[in-house]
Formats: sequence, structure tokens, C-alpha cells
Amino acid sequence: LENPVPENKLLEFRKEHLGKGLSLSYDKPLHIVRGEGVYLIDKDGQKYLDTVNNVNHVGHQHPKVVQAGQRQMAVLNTNTRYLHEEIVQYAEMLLKKLPPHLSVIHIVNSGSEANELALRMAKTVTKNEDFIAIEVGYHGNTNAAMDVSSYKFDALGGNGKPKTTHVLPLPDSFRGKYTGENCGIDYAAHTKEIIQRLKVEGKEIAGFIGESMVSCGGQIVPPSNYFQEVYKHVRNAGGICIADEVQTGFGRMGKTFWAFELYEVLPDIVTMGKPAGNGHPLAIVACTEEVATKFNTGMEYFNTFGGNPVSCAIGRAVLEVIEEEKLQENALNVGGFLKFELLKLQKDFPIIGNVRGEGLFLGFELNNSNKEPLPEQTNYLMNRMKQLGILMSIDGPDHNVMKIKPPLVFSKENAEELIARLKTVFAEDFLKEF
Ligand code: PMP
Repeated sequence: LENPVPENKLLEFRKEHLGKGLSLSYDKPLHIVRGEGVYLIDKDGQKYLDTVNNVNHVGHQHPKVVQAGQRQMAVLNTNTRYLHEEIVQYAEMLLKKLPPHLSVIHIVNSGSEANELALRMAKTVTKNEDFIAIEVGYHGNTNAAMDVSSYKFDALGGNGKPKTTHVLPLPDSFRGKYTGENCGIDYAAHTKEIIQRLKVEGKEIAGFIGESMVSCGGQIVPPSNYFQEVYKHVRNAGGICIADEVQTGFGRMGKTFWAFELYEVLPDIVTMGKPAGNGHPLAIVACTEEVATKFNTGMEYFNTFGGNPVSCAIGRAVLEVIEEEKLQENALNVGGFLKFELLKLQKDFPIIGNVRGEGLFLGFELNNSNKEPLPEQTNYLMNRMKQLGILMSIDGPDHNVMKIKPPLVFSKENAEELIARLKTVFAEDFLKEF
């Protein structure tokens, strides 16, 4: 293929030679060639404001992160079987961000791999096989991670729920199974019910895995007392509690560094990914001393790339930038401003059924007056926003939730621009007649 490759050729080649399930965003796909801060830039130099990318956490191509990678790549990149400063310095810095009972980390290369390891740890520690997970949750593309991902096994092409997985209803207090003040208890009670049902069959659980805000489920914010109740039931049954912070971690919540902290629970295992390396494949499993010790059965856990000096140098630079540029604080302030503005917008445009989220992890959904989802209108909104230079993404089981999870360098001006463009599109006929 010639270089630059014409777009129709890029598309044809992808269709023929890349995985057949690989999707493209937007009705007319974008050809992005560069990133810079909160912007993605296409081949013609058109800049798009990126409200989607929670991977490029401290901004696309952040110079400090790029330099850290370049510097270390030019010196050494090997596996973890030699002594080296980088892995120790990174681990030390990351552990300072976690509650003290989580004192051991394993470094891997993707969120899927992190959850795969976490699930294996829980199985090894408890000697049980069964997991409890949340409806429409997603935890990765490996076999074990897929087995606890209702987002996949319950959706098109999925094979349904595996025998060893037990699903809690999506704790959606807007239009889920339960609503109202105490719905957290009602949602969590299913945990107990599952555990009791298994007991009758002579089975016990290995643990529970869940995001503290259900991203793929549509930016669902579980009720305040939900996780404390779920964890209580799981722990009473001897299970391990795994918090998946792949999307929600590293300061995005604003109020707290991790989403589980909003719910005042202490997981036994925390998995991290996406933002850890700002786009470089870096993911982590943090666990208690007890879990780490019991997992060490004598068999080595080896990971060729995990924890190499380049990944660790990049990871450390990401943590430094979060601190130096006060990005958690920015998530709190800009996220708070944006949520307030979205709530104002909802008053003018009742098609916005619900606005939710924390920090720079927000979502709003489009519904008719009966709270029924409006996926076509949501798709229209996303594609129109792209035409106006703003990238947004859709998720949720009914494809009617707009997710907002930009790089944390998103500014108040960026938020104002987003709101102004949303106002323009919401005033268009297609979104007025629903
Ligand atoms: N957990 C969650 C919550 C995720 O959103 C994802 C990716 N979307 C994963 C795990 C898997 O991470 P990866 O794609 O890096 O394997």
C-alpha cells in the first residue's frame, strides 16, 4: 500500500485483513493522525475536542510522559528478573495512592490481563470457582474476564451466562429494577440471595467483581450504600472483593483518587489499566498481603512485558503529571461545573432524562417522557457533535447514554464549548420531535 494510504484503501484493508469484529466510531469514520492535550487531529488538520478518551488521561501525547518513555527506551527495556529502580519507584509511588492494606502490586499490560489475574487470585485464595458480577459490567476480553462480563455474554453474539457466574441487577436508580431512597439495599440483597442459593447446591463463592461506577452499563452511579452491603454479604461468605478501577481510577472522580473510595469500602484486590500509561499498555493488580501470600503457591507468576522499565517510567510520569498539574482537582472543578451546566441544559431540553456521574466521569441519557430510551436520537446527537468538532461516545444496554470522560486536562473553556455545541444540536428538529 502506498503512503499516505487513501481512506477507501484503509477501510477495505481493515475489512478484509483485520479482525472482523473490529468496529469504527461514527457513521462516517474519522482518520485521526495526531493527538495534543484534549484534542485529536485528523489528516486534514481538523481538530476535535475529545470528550471520550479516558486512556490519554493526562492529555494526548503529554510531553513529560512521551519523554519518560523515550528516555528509558533508549537505555534499557527488559523483563523483571533483574534488579531495577524503575519498578520499585513506580510501585512505591502507586502504593502511596492506595489504602495501606493494599500493599502488593503485580504489573501487567492491559485491563483484561489485570482482571484475569485478579479472578485467578480469588479462585486460588478461596479454592472456589463462582463469581458474582454486575449486569452489563465489562471486565475484559480474556476467557475469565469475559465470563464475568454480562456486557458481552448477554449481548449480541454472546453465549449467555456461564454456570459459575451470578449476576446482580444493574444498580440504576433512575430507571432500573428498584428506585427510591433505599434502593441500594434492595439491589445488594441479591448478593445474599445468590450466596444462599449456591449454598443449597453445596457451593461457595470465590468473590465479587464490579466497577464502582458501571461504565459500559451507561455511566451508572450505584446508590450510596450499595457497595458496603454487597461487600458485607460477600465477605460473610468468605469471598474476595475485586474493584475494577480500569475506567474510573487515577483521580477522574475528583473527590477521590479511586471510585471505590466514594463508597467507603476496602476491596481485597483493585485492578487498574487504561489511564495508568496514558495510552502505553500498562495495567496493575493491587492486593492485600494476605491475598498475595496465598496466591504464591510456589508457581511463578511471570509476565514478559509487565513491569518493564519503559512501562514503569511512563507510569511514574503519569502519576507525577497528575500531581504537578493538579488534575484530580481539575476533575472536581471542571467536572462539577460541567455537571451543573448539563443539569441546566436538562431544564431546557427534557429529552435529557438523567444527568449523572462524578468529576470528569459523567453521563446523560436521552429518553421520552416515559423514561423510554431514545437510541436513534442519541446516535444523531453523537454524529452531529462530531460534525461540530466534538467527539462523544454512546454506551448503556439501550445505547442511549452519552458518556463524558475526557482527558483530565479538560478545561472550563472546553466544558463551555461542549455545552454550547450541545445546545445547538438539541435545538434541531430531530431532537425536538421525540
Ligand atoms: N475493565 C473495564 C471496566 C474496562 O472498561 C475495560 C476496557 N474497556 C477493561 C476492563 C479491559 O481493559 P483492556 O481493554 O485494557 O484489556
